[in-house]
Amino acid sequence: MSTPERVVVVGFGPVAARLVEDLLPAVAAGTLALTVLGAESRAAYNRVLVAEVAVGRTAAGAIALADADELRRAGVDVRLGATVRRVDRSRRRVLLDDGAPVPYDRLVFATGARPILPTLRGLDFAPHAEPRLPEGVAALRDLDDADLLRRVVADGGRAVILGGGVLGVEAALLVQEHGAQAVLVHHGRHPLPRHVDDDAGRLLAHRLCAAGVQLVSEARAVAVQRESDRFAALELADGALVPGDLLVLSVGVRARDELAAGCGLATGNGIHVDGRLRADTEDRVFAIGDCAAVDGARPSGLIGPGWAQAEWLAAYLTRHRTPPVPAPGPADTLPAVPPSASPESVDPLPAASLPAEPPGAILLKARGLDFTSGGDVSPGLWDTDAGGRRVSIWADPQRGAYCKMVTEDGALTGFVALGLPRTAAELVLLYERGRELPADRTTLFRLEDPVAAPAAEPGPDEVLCRCSGATHGQVATARETGCTTVEEVGRACRAGTGCGGCRDRIEAVLRAAAREPVGV
Ligand SMILES: Cc1cc2nc3c(=O)[nH]c(=O)nc-3n(C[C@H](O)[C@H](O)[C@H](O)COP(=O)(O)OP(=O)(O)OC[C@H]3O[C@@H](n4cnc5c(N)ncnc54)[C@H](O)[C@@H]3O)c2cc1C
Repeated sequence: MSTPERVVVVGFGPVAARLVEDLLPAVAAGTLALTVLGAESRAAYNRVLVAEVAVGRTAAGAIALADADELRRAGVDVRLGATVRRVDRSRRRVLLDDGAPVPYDRLVFATGARPILPTLRGLDFAPHAEPRLPEGVAALRDLDDADLLRRVVADGGRAVILGGGVLGVEAALLVQEHGAQAVLVHHGRHPLPRHVDDDAGRLLAHRLCAAGVQLVSEARAVAVQRESDRFAALELADGALVPGDLLVLSVGVRARDELAAGCGLATGNGIHVDGRLRADTEDRVFAIGDCAAVDGARPSGLIGPGWAQAEWLAAYLTRHRTPPVPAPGPADTLPAVPPSASPESVDPLPAASLPAEPPGAILLKARGLDFTSGGDVSPGLWDTDAGGRRVSIWADPQRGAYCKMVTEDGALTGFVALGLPRTAAELVLLYERGRELPADRTTLFRLEDPVAAPAAEPGPDEVLCRCSGATHGQVATARETGCTTVEEVGRACRAGTGCGGCRDRIEAVLRAAAREPVGV
């Protein structure tokens, strides 16, 4: 048997976890020697759900995506609390923070993203040092941050959330729902400025206030004020103070690409990779997930595309061995790289799936506030310079419902829907497939009445879980093979294992099966 190829994965987040899981058969077969190096002290967990852990809706253990001991028993070299400080491509090895070298034949960056830290007085970091937030300030990216927020929520305290984007709004609603006070400080007249027009924004703001969230709008934060070295208040440009027990920073994320930049790879808004996820020209270095800029596009910041990339790369690494070493050099001091033995040198895999074009719709993870949006909703109803785009609006503010649709040649190019869950689900499908809207738009709103418009049976190939890509057909098969809970379905076909937004639909499939007469 030939020497196993050494694959080293830097980072152990959700995307690396999927790659590792899919490479296990090759490890078992002895063709790959797999090492995964994670800076966090825990094995991968579902980061999408850290806010749910923070408010006590779920436990940290319940969002685990990997078990380090189990992986070690399966032959994977798992190292936790291991931060890679440098990559030495000429010698094909990475160096850990304690200086230990880890050699590789192939290297995968899965270093994800880090929160952007705003420029505020009181948040001053030493140049070139890993930034350390003061006590009482968190970024809600990992389980340690969740722990800080959990204490404030358990005490019914006051969390000041800076940033009115999707994660900020979701966090504010969760905090409020679980008995603490959320104060959302944001630029602009209303939260989610990139996803709403003015009317939807006003209705959204109204719904947030009705849920108890305090909004501080059109605010520019300038400083963090501390008392006894702990966060005490956020200072705004007009001198106003927003006091609280915890400041949650939610102003965006940035790809962690500095390690790749440091070893000479092309970076800038992520590690530049081609359609085959290659960061170099030698087919040795790859990047996936939140750190990867595929074919010049920014990382999507979503778990679904990262999982699709991990799945693709696992298949690629399993089928393709590294090419022979091209020229003698320092790398020759390392054990020889196995030759490119495979007759499949001509890649039988299509290029890795690129981020959806147009960018996918966003669905807010918030109970009781059905907010969905996609594309550009900026054109106004009466705009004459909207470049051929047409706008339809339907609103019922008393019921908390609003919908705006922007079309070009009949096809949906942008929409925002609030308080209209069934209409929104249909609009997501039409938007992501670039389909034409019905000429009579009011038919879409009739979908809200399940009696008048029973939902059409989805086809087996229709995607049910946007994160994992699992289809209705796969969920039906899981059900037919005996799965009776969402968790069992998740283990069978991965549906429902990402953001959890499809759990209701999986439950509906399971309930419908339970009602079916036996023996028919
Ligand atoms: C609160 C919150 C809510 C979210 N909600 C959604 C949602 O609803 N839907 C959705 O699709 N996505 C959502 N996301 C985004 C989703 O979590 C990310 O897309 C996903 O985590 C990306 O996975 P990743 O493995 O690429 O990177 P990450 O999850 O960032 O993991 C990267 C890992 O690599 C480690 N690492 C970095 N550098 C090094 C190094 N030098 N050495 C060793 N280890 C290193 C990091 O410590 C980290 O553990 C949410 C994220 C957050 C924080």
